[in-house]
Amino acid sequence: MAQEKKNTPKREDGSQPIALPGIRRFQFFSNLRDRALTKNLNRLAMLGIGASLALDVAKPIAHDLPQTIFCYECRACYATQDRCPAAIAYQAELNVAARVGDHTRFIKAGGMKCIRCGSCVSFCVVNLDLPRIFSVGQERVMEALEAGRIPRDRIEGFLREGLFGREFIDRVADWFDKSGGRTA
Ligand code: SF4
Ligand code: SF4
Repeated sequence: MAQEKKNTPKREDGSQPIALPGIRRFQFFSNLRDRALTKNLNRLAMLGIGASLALDVAKPIAHDLPQTIFCYECRACYATQDRCPAAIAYQAELNVAARVGDHTRFIKAGGMKCIRCGSCVSFCVVNLDLPRIFSVGQERVMEALEAGRIPRDRIEGFLREGLFGREFIDRVADWFDKSGGRTA
């Protein structure tokens, strides 16, 4: 085996066949020294893809919403339309906002008005437990608000637009009283 290896001629750039000019033209792609670089670039790309996929999975788990990983973002749930008593037009937006912990996006999409009735569930192609997902999203928003992580003037704007449902108004008002002039 060792003998065989010893007798294998070393391939040089110039010794490669020139019968097919097309192959010769792209020959540098297959040269050993270039292949090492390509291989490492491929590894780096795979590492990047793997890390971003891991983050996509880790974030929803960290937010206690592992189910949201299965959301296709297909938007079939938008068909709920007037069957949503809170007049929420984009349920998938709530799902994605809750998954990534984007409180502003969640509030703007009407998440704090959701009464978790479950009407939209029958439109979800993977039958996600949307009321639970939205409930966790709402609780995360309230935690962020009470911890002062959402700027006060932004909350005032959301209140003016009527983006907080009745069940959260008292809690938000309490926070306003307690926080006084504090801004985040
Ligand atoms: S669970 Fe929320 S978003 Fe879904 S239909 Fe009911 S109120 Fe609308
Ligand atoms: S129908 Fe279900 S899977 Fe599709 S976007 Fe809505 S929540 Fe996600």
